[in-house]
Amino acid sequence: MARLVMKFGGTSVADPDRIARVARLVAAERQAGCRTAVVVSAQSGETDRLVRLARACGGEELGPGFDDEYDVVVAAGEQVTTGLLALALRKMGVPARSWQNWQIPIRSDAAHAKARIEDIDAGPLGAAIDAGEVAVIPGFQAITAGQRITTLGRGGSDTSAVAVAAALGALRCDIYTDVDGVYTTDPRIVRYGEENALPGDPAMRHRARRLEKISYEEMLEMASLGAKVLQTRSVELAMAKGVRVRVLSSFVEPGDPNPGTIVCDEDEIVEKQVVSGVAYSRDEAKLTLLGVADTPGVAAEIFGRLAEAAINVDMIVQSQSRAEGRQNIVFTCPDRDAGRARDVLLSGTPKLDLEQVQVRRDVAKVSVIGIGMKSQVGVARTMFAALAAKGINIEAIATSEIKISVLIDAQYTELAVRALHTAYGLDAA
Ligand code: ADP
Ligand code: ASP
Ligand code: MG
Repeated sequence: MARLVMKFGGTSVADPDRIARVARLVAAERQAGCRTAVVVSAQSGETDRLVRLARACGGEELGPGFDDEYDVVVAAGEQVTTGLLALALRKMGVPARSWQNWQIPIRSDAAHAKARIEDIDAGPLGAAIDAGEVAVIPGFQAITAGQRITTLGRGGSDTSAVAVAAALGALRCDIYTDVDGVYTTDPRIVRYGEENALPGDPAMRHRARRLEKISYEEMLEMASLGAKVLQTRSVELAMAKGVRVRVLSSFVEPGDPNPGTIVCDEDEIVEKQVVSGVAYSRDEAKLTLLGVADTPGVAAEIFGRLAEAAINVDMIVQSQSRAEGRQNIVFTCPDRDAGRARDVLLSGTPKLDLEQVQVRRDVAKVSVIGIGMKSQVGVARTMFAALAAKGINIEAIATSEIKISVLIDAQYTELAVRALHTAYGLDAA
């Protein structure tokens, strides 16, 4: 009999009725013969509430010296949900128990608030589910060798689920959420369109489509470029360990059609789309360094300092300045790091030879992703033409084999996503 991991996100366990529905879905899989481990998130809004509480007591900047206790606080939400689901299952007559991380254990490194799982002992856990008991495990957290609680970064329950599935050698990892699969773009963009559009407005015609299958590579790009349906690390891990992942709706009853989206190897996908999806991220800032000395080693010094400060730089554009012997450098980083990036470049010794640092925070990154791009020409032209037709200016560009990203004014994010969705023929009929 096969082992199965089911994961339920925050909205799926938001109240007792939803928890009861989750229990019915779990009971049905067990009834069908699966040996089941369930990974749960905190109830929706709970982790945010705990983060606010931790900040209220420890200060806004929860860095070194604070982040271990921050983890103790924010990990608490998931423990509650494990107990609630185990109770709901028992109420239905299904044998179930919660397994906290230290009881399994799920071990991670000690990088608090962004820890990585290193090892899971699947022995006792596997034996329990093989004996017919449902195991309910808190997502988002682990324990260090020194017995301290860690968390895996926001959205980390997806990663817990994939890691548990890998450790148990599960047939599949089913990620139940508030959408019924991975879509060609964030389905919420449609709703924004409907709010703002009048009937007959072209925006009303935009419709994201559920994908039946998506390759690990594409899903990895989609997630890292802003589609938060799966945490990026969970996709990385699924790809590395060959875990089959399915994303599907938790808002159904057992037996309802719920095919979801399968995340799998590229070889399994027969029809390779040139572009499979459009992603966006508003969590971007653009820094422009004006009048930088045009000598070897300057870029190494600038980006070396940013790397030392653990600031993740994404797009980089270098151009000649009008002044002799000077250049301009533009780069992007996560919005929350913009201020720190500026400080790192303006302070510190030796002083960097540059005239000015400008920071713009009202920018967004919009990306198109598709494995078919590898063998297709003209993909970039379609993108740039579609944006130009809407009068949207491109401020920076980054490409890889299977994606093209552009940086634009944040106020045009939705317009750009819709225009690109249409330009690549992704709109539902
Ligand atoms: P959970 O709480 O279940 O982990 P999340 O809120 O983390 O759920 O992720 C689900 C959300 O991801 C959806 O409600 C949707 O708005 C968003 N999303 C963004 N991009 C996509 C996409 N391409 N396909 C599906 N959902 C997406
Ligand atoms: N509860 C955590 C969060 O809100 C983890 C998760 O839901 O995946 O980020
Ligand atoms: Mg999530």
